[in-house]
Amino acid sequence: MSSSIRLLLNTLLFSVVAAATTYDYVIVGGGATGLSLAVLLSEDSSKRVAVGDQLTATLSGSGSELIVHHPRGGSEVRTSDRFLFLSPIVNNYGSTSSGIGNPNITNLRLNSNNFGTANDWQFVTVPQVDVGNRPQAQVQGKVLGGGSAINSGMYLRGNKEEYDALETLGATGWNWDSMFSAVKKSEHFHPPSQTEVDALGLTDTPAFHGFAGPISVAIQAVNVSRFFPEFAVPTLKNLGHKMNTDPNGGFHNGPSWDFLTILPDSNTRSYAVSGYYLPVINRTNLHVMTESQGTKIIWAEKTQDGLITATGVEYIVFNESGNAKNVILSGSALNTPKILELSGVGDPTVLASVGIDLLVNLPGVGANLCNQPITTASYLLKNGTVDAGNAIRSAIIDVQPFSGYLSAADLQRSEELLQTKPELLSDAQFKIMKEQIEAGVPQMEFAWNVAADGNNVTTLTFDRLILVKPLSRGTVHINSTDPLVPPVIDPKYLSAPHDKFAFAKAVQYTRTIVNAEPLKSIIVGPVLPDATVQTDDDFVNYVNTKSVSEHHFVGSSAMVPRAEGGVVDPSLVVYGTSNVRVADLSIIASLPGIHTVSLAYMVAERAAEIINAGQ
Ligand SMILES: Cc1cc2nc3c(=O)[nH]c(=O)nc-3n(C[C@H](O)[C@H](O)[C@H](O)COP(=O)(O)OP(=O)(O)OC[C@H]3O[C@@H](n4cnc5c(N)ncnc54)[C@H](O)[C@@H]3O)c2cc1C
Repeated sequence: MSSSIRLLLNTLLFSVVAAATTYDYVIVGGGATGLSLAVLLSEDSSKRVAVGDQLTATLSGSGSELIVHHPRGGSEVRTSDRFLFLSPIVNNYGSTSSGIGNPNITNLRLNSNNFGTANDWQFVTVPQVDVGNRPQAQVQGKVLGGGSAINSGMYLRGNKEEYDALETLGATGWNWDSMFSAVKKSEHFHPPSQTEVDALGLTDTPAFHGFAGPISVAIQAVNVSRFFPEFAVPTLKNLGHKMNTDPNGGFHNGPSWDFLTILPDSNTRSYAVSGYYLPVINRTNLHVMTESQGTKIIWAEKTQDGLITATGVEYIVFNESGNAKNVILSGSALNTPKILELSGVGDPTVLASVGIDLLVNLPGVGANLCNQPITTASYLLKNGTVDAGNAIRSAIIDVQPFSGYLSAADLQRSEELLQTKPELLSDAQFKIMKEQIEAGVPQMEFAWNVAADGNNVTTLTFDRLILVKPLSRGTVHINSTDPLVPPVIDPKYLSAPHDKFAFAKAVQYTRTIVNAEPLKSIIVGPVLPDATVQTDDDFVNYVNTKSVSEHHFVGSSAMVPRAEGGVVDPSLVVYGTSNVRVADLSIIASLPGIHTVSLAYMVAERAAEIINAGQ
């Protein structure tokens, strides 16, 4: 059945379900940002909040007993422990999926089992010209909790300058001070144990943390025996990499703990559903709608002071929220531009190409898309020299500025390449990014992981070599009026020549690391890239053929001035509208060098502050 016929049938079948409730806020997308924000806005019991996502059923009941109301009629009671996740019972178009307490959600280490399932939008980019013309699979959460439900749980915050840059770019009030305060509100920090402190010689700084927020942050138990204290840490020190006791206070340079969003007692995922939503699931003014793919905004016929006004959101199947005083788009950096464009807000050329009438001319919608490239490098260690233990993810992560791994000659080449602005990067961002490079803001992540297989073959893998602040920018746009057709995603990975240079050099630098003592004494040789990869060109070829992409999209509805390609103002309101906001990572114009779920919670907390203050 074609997607448009399916859409028509679903709309016909379920339009009768419409209930004429008027919500103060209708949020499209119950992901990391949207669900957290829905909970925060509904703290005011006089406000009615609806949030729609991709589950098939409505949830009610207590945290330990969930009642699933199926939109097609009937309900069933399911029991759950408070931190278990109710995964989709039936996906949007009728096929069954797994039930409650899905370990693929609760167990961080099983997260990749969700990839390619009903919990994933299963997007694919157009062929990426600068990485061997390969299309890239883009996993995106299509479940309550969004990315926070299926991500790997890494937790980083970045440097002060990166947040202050957002304000310099035009996001007044969005700076390190406000974001640091917001992220501490979302955090429940669990300090490392004395054994863990002793293992790496690192502690933590209480002032950098929140201790009463919904999202649990802890380090993964350092159970990889003597490898890290005896080999990794001394080698890094010999290379001049200064250990960072606690990277959460606005300076994250150097090797440190690899923090996770995890509940240390149960070893389960801490995320928007378990942290924000389940504890308040009985709130009667908060309605989590399911089977609710928002397709477009419904507009009032009349404009107010030249601004168009939303009156609701159209949904494919379960049209519960006909009326909205305010609409908040939280579909993620890949989905939100699509909803805006389908609603007549965007680049005139894009809208004209699919025959949609232009209501607000905003060429920034779907532009400035940014994500990070990632690859790996691994080395065989001498048998028996390392007791691998059972940790399969990194115990330490080392984030470095270019000066932390490029030679003097390479730094000169870097400067030469930075003379030319990449085509789709704004002048303002280019200037700021160059300033950050000069100031030593980390650009590259090296995560260390050691594991032994059943035959005690031990491998050191830099399992996350990530160029965390790429200069390359791309686009995400619709090419159809059918809301079931995925957007056309073209991030243009490694299209900026400096990105490819600096990324390939980082893979090459892992050879320098393993040639430093004491690590050198236990290295057998390279596995990936193998020993035939030697020259600069070989390493460039390696990243061309082997790099993939992270899942850290930002920027496609940027909070910068309208004249500079902005989509939202500092109060998150879409330019040209009176009551439509965007609250997800698409508003972040310039990516801090991090994994982005912390940023989603910052945006949710900050958005709630702004909206509640009536700004
Ligand atoms: C596989 C993977 C691994 C990751 N690993 C990490 C990590 O280790 N550490 C880290 O910090 N970050 C990680 N991230 C990134 C992080 O999870 C995301 O940056 C974050 O979730 C983005 O938040 P968001 O609110 O912008 O979007 P999302 O969390 O993606 O939420 C968007 C929500 O909107 C829904 N939606 C979209 N369109 C519609 C529509 N039209 N109608 C209704 N609902 C809609 C989606 O189903 C989704 O639930 C990872 C992400 C992925 C996908």
